[in-house]
Amino acid sequence: PRSMSVGKKSEAVKVVVRCRPVNKKEEAMSHEKIVEVDVKLGQVSIHNPKTPGSLMKTFTFDAVYDTASKQSDLYDYSCKPLIDSVLLGFNGTIFAYGQTGTGKTYTMQGLPTDPEKRGVIPNSFQHIFTHISRSQNQQYLVRVSYLEIYQDEIRDLLCKDNNKKLELKENPEQGVYVKDLSSVVTKNIKEIEHVMNLGNQSRSVGFTKMNERSSRSHAVFVITIECSEMGVDGEEHIRVGKLNMVDLAGSERQSKTGVQGLRFKEAAKINLSLCALGNVISALVDGKNSHIPYRDSKLTRLLQDSLGGNSKTVMVATIGPTSCHYEETLTTLRFANRAK
Ligand code: ADP
Ligand code: MG
Repeated sequence: PRSMSVGKKSEAVKVVVRCRPVNKKEEAMSHEKIVEVDVKLGQVSIHNPKTPGSLMKTFTFDAVYDTASKQSDLYDYSCKPLIDSVLLGFNGTIFAYGQTGTGKTYTMQGLPTDPEKRGVIPNSFQHIFTHISRSQNQQYLVRVSYLEIYQDEIRDLLCKDNNKKLELKENPEQGVYVKDLSSVVTKNIKEIEHVMNLGNQSRSVGFTKMNERSSRSHAVFVITIECSEMGVDGEEHIRVGKLNMVDLAGSERQSKTGVQGLRFKEAAKINLSLCALGNVISALVDGKNSHIPYRDSKLTRLLQDSLGGNSKTVMVATIGPTSCHYEETLTTLRFANRAK
C-alpha cells in the first residue's frame, strides 16, 4: 500500500457535465432549448418546459462543458490529471453516464474520422505512449483488456469466443479479477488502436442494431501500465497503475417503454448496477462512510480497486439540451449532483 496523501476524499472524485448540441431531429421539430451551461461558474441550469416562467433549477459541478466544447477541452482539463496519476502507478476510472443519445460514446470513443473528434480513450493512447517515448530510465509494459457487462454477465470483447460468460473471482493477492479475461500487450498507438477497434467490432456482433446493445451494456476498457525503474538503492522498482474507461449503459428508465419479460429483467439489472455505482460514488465523496457498498453489483465489484483509496475517479454525465427529454435530463443532473 502506498502512503501518498491525495488530500480530501472528494478531491479524488470529480463530477463533470457535458451537454451535446441540438441535433437535426430536434431542430426540425423546433424543440425548445431548456438547458443553460455556465462554464465559468461550473453550473448547469434547467427549466421545466411544462411550466413556463417557473424558476430554473441550478446545479454546480467540478466542471461543465457546453455544446461548443471540444473533445480536447474535456480531455485536457478533466481527464489528463487522472491519466498522469495512472502513469505514476495509481488506479483511475473515467465513466460516461447518461441517457442513450446524449454523447457517452462520443465522449469516450469519439469519431474516428477526425483527429479533433477523438474521444477520451484514443486521447489517452496518445498521452500514454508519448509519455513512454519521452521517458529515459523507465521500462514500460502496457496491457489492454476490454470487456462488456451485458445482462449482468461479463464477456471478453477481445476473445474470439465472446459469448463465453466470464466469472468474477477474488483472491488475497490479486483482489477482485475476471477469470480468463484476455490481456493484450501493446507497444505503440497503432497496436492499441487496433485492439480497441477489434473490441468495438465484437461489441456489435449478433445484434442488428449496434445502439440497441450498447445502450444496454457497460463497456469497460482497461489499460494496465507497468513501469520498472532502477532505484538509487540499485534495486528494480515496479509500479502498476490501472486505467478503466467505462461507457455505461443508458440511464433512461426502461420501464417507461412498457417492456416486459426478458427486457424488463434486463432493465431492472441496468438500473440496479447504475444505482449501485451511484451509491459507491456518493459514499466515497461523502468520505464519512467506512462502508463502501462495492459488493452490490458486478460493475462496482470489478472496479473496486480503482474506486476510492488512492484512486482517482471522473464521472462525465452527458445530457441533451432540449425540452423533449426534460425528465431524463433532470434525473441525470440529480444523479450527478448526488455523486458530488
Ligand atoms: P450515447 O452513446 O450516449 O447513446 P452517442 O455518443 O452515440 O450517445 O451520441 C449520439 C449522437 O450525438 C451521435 O451522432 C454523436 O456523434 C452526437 N454527439 C454526441 N455528443 C456530441 C457532442 N458533444 N458534439 C457533437 N456531436 C455529439
Ligand atoms: Mg453509446
